[in-house]
Amino acid sequence: MIIITQPGATEEQIEQIVARVHEFGLETQISRGSSRVIVGVIGPEELVREKPLAAMAGVEAIVPVLKPYKLASYQSRGAASTVEICGVSIGGDSAVTLMCGPCAVESREQMVSIARLVKESGARILRGGAFKPRTSPYSFQGLREDGLRFLADARNETGLPVITEVMDARDLPMVERYADCLQIGARNMQNFSLLKEVGRSHLPVLLKRGFSATINELIMSAEYILSEGNMNVLLCERGIRTFEPSTRYTLDLSAVPILKARTHLPVVVDPTHGVGVREIVPQMSLAAVAAGADAIMIEVHESPDDAKSDGEQALMPATLAKLVPRLRAVANAIGRDL
Ligand code: PEP
Ligand code: MN
Repeated sequence: MIIITQPGATEEQIEQIVARVHEFGLETQISRGSSRVIVGVIGPEELVREKPLAAMAGVEAIVPVLKPYKLASYQSRGAASTVEICGVSIGGDSAVTLMCGPCAVESREQMVSIARLVKESGARILRGGAFKPRTSPYSFQGLREDGLRFLADARNETGLPVITEVMDARDLPMVERYADCLQIGARNMQNFSLLKEVGRSHLPVLLKRGFSATINELIMSAEYILSEGNMNVLLCERGIRTFEPSTRYTLDLSAVPILKARTHLPVVVDPTHGVGVREIVPQMSLAAVAAGADAIMIEVHESPDDAKSDGEQALMPATLAKLVPRLRAVANAIGRDL
């Protein structure tokens, strides 16, 4: 079970709640959100006498958790949560957010130029990888700190917050100096030591689903981040491996309503990696909005044929510009803004 404290609960009240749980012979795990503290109770719940606990000062609710993911479960909050990235609010009733930019950061000029273009089209977050997880060690690996600097330059020029991948816990302090949101890539979804590290970061985390991971495995990975105290986690569906070779992966859009029913976390869809084929990214983006995604991540490149990675799946800026009004129309049709 988890104990949700009242927004104004004092440290003393929280200590008393924790002490009472320990008296029952159980362990606790504390997570601090922006307005409340959540005390996770670890151990056999039947040892807890719930009524006296619920009556304690500072306790707002006690939520029995049957699911293995205590902090990510929808029940633990009873409402969808929102994650803020530098004032851009994602999830809940917020407008659907577009996160756009190239696969990889290639130069300062490229980033500033694409940032301006995607912002004009309606993107509210800029993406770009400075550390690239490539299948071959001989492929372009990313510009590392230079890439992070170019991202920050593009933010300074446009005001767009930036999201970028961190692949290795040793790089986290450096990435944190430049990024506004951390991305954990599909290949690292179960890198548990990295998940714990970003769980201690002050930055929000976008966690991508591994391409061989089940929905519950994705949620359990999010739980690693939450259990370290970082409550600002976004879940991202980016395609899974199936037997179908017509697309790079199979974009599992049914994951969107399932994740939203099982968890309170905002759900992002990345149709670009999900299909890997530029021509059908617009249709799948529209479908992702219709399915209830809180944000859509789309790769955009001014000269995809020359891109250092993933050029075949990047949209041209003009295609994005034409797509956004259609995405907005779909969002409006389901009662949301974009
Ligand atoms: C990316 O966003 O560029 C990326 C590498 O994504 P994924 O981890 O989903 O493959
Ligand atoms: Mn990519």
